[in-house]
Amino acid sequence: MTISNLSTPCFILKEEELKKSIDGFKTALDTKFPNSIIGYSVKTNSLPYCLKIAKDNGCYAEVVSYHEYQLALTCGFPKNHVIYNGPMKSKETFLDVLKHKGIVNIESFREIEWLRELSCNEIYKVGIRLNIDISKISPLDENHKEDDSRFGFSADSADFKNAIQQISEYGNVRLVGLHIHRTSKTRSVDFYKNTLTYALSVINKYNLNIEYIDLGGGYFGEMPGKPTYADYVDAFYDVLKHSNNNYKIIVEPGNAILASAFDYVCTVIDVKHHNDKNVVTTDGTRNDVDPLFHKTDYFKSFIYKKSSEKCQHKQLVGGLTCLENDRLFVLEKGEKTLCLGDKIVFNRVGAYTLCLTPLFIHYFPVIYVKRGDEYCVVREEWTEKDFIMKSKY
Ligand SMILES: *Cc1c(COP(=O)(O)O)cnc(C)c1O
Repeated sequence: MTISNLSTPCFILKEEELKKSIDGFKTALDTKFPNSIIGYSVKTNSLPYCLKIAKDNGCYAEVVSYHEYQLALTCGFPKNHVIYNGPMKSKETFLDVLKHKGIVNIESFREIEWLRELSCNEIYKVGIRLNIDISKISPLDENHKEDDSRFGFSADSADFKNAIQQISEYGNVRLVGLHIHRTSKTRSVDFYKNTLTYALSVINKYNLNIEYIDLGGGYFGEMPGKPTYADYVDAFYDVLKHSNNNYKIIVEPGNAILASAFDYVCTVIDVKHHNDKNVVTTDGTRNDVDPLFHKTDYFKSFIYKKSSEKCQHKQLVGGLTCLENDRLFVLEKGEKTLCLGDKIVFNRVGAYTLCLTPLFIHYFPVIYVKRGDEYCVVREEWTEKDFIMKSKY
């Protein structure tokens, strides 16, 4: 099978690419930090086949809900290879991960109450998430003015102090981890230097006995002109080399390892002409590749059925839905003319795409995995049968 024979619209998971990204990050970490951990951010792309690759390549599962935890277990992650974050933990799974020596980063005061239910005859280790206000800690990297955060306990207010105080009152619980996570606008190396320096200052101020620092996600994947995995790891090392501790480093990349692993293919199904432009309709949709409607262009390429002439007009390329703004991109005058049956391949669309696609007009598209030159289906297209599954009517 070749890419031109695939049914469209479809996603293609490039297995080698995903493994290469995981391996690249791990290799960079291993040069400076023995015993580092990569947590695969399940929310970024929860396709079971990806979870299996992540597990088989040494990642932990970074989960943020009851259902993500159950999904990770179903896909074969052992309970001690789970990193449990976020405000939506269930009590049952929170205690389960702790009992099985997984990593839990406490996010809320209600979780601190739940610690009461642990057995008094054992010692349990927990981490805590520290609130990161990018505008205060690393202003050049802010996404917007007042780029504060809803997550973690703030060391600027009394919360962090109160939280660590409450945890320390349990005789059977040790606070051993500090978790920070933000996705900055720049994804710059300096952002990690600044936030890690801040984390160290908090560890020192409160005299915490920390074993691991979890630096969260927000990294670039390997791309020309952008920081590499090694650049990020060198930055961690630069900050940490002055401290006497051998902290275990955890990272939780989502975008960095998943974006480049997926392509999306759609086919031109109609071309109209009005208002001095070609209006090209495809069987794909912006809902699949840009579900948050932020993007204006994509890494992309074209497969033309015939050798195509230069177009004398602009070409507006849109999707299958009846949404007026299901517009994918515009080609300026002079680009090759898109005709019926031509294909568009979008690259780097594996992060925050298929996990956010709505069930709108068209259901979930088929997903292929590409190994070498071979394509196999790893998730069939959803039909009305799948859609209706839990409905009464
Ligand atoms: C979303 C998230 C990540 C992954 O973020 P990316 O920007 O995709 O790398 C990692 N850790 C936590 C806690 C998250 O919420």
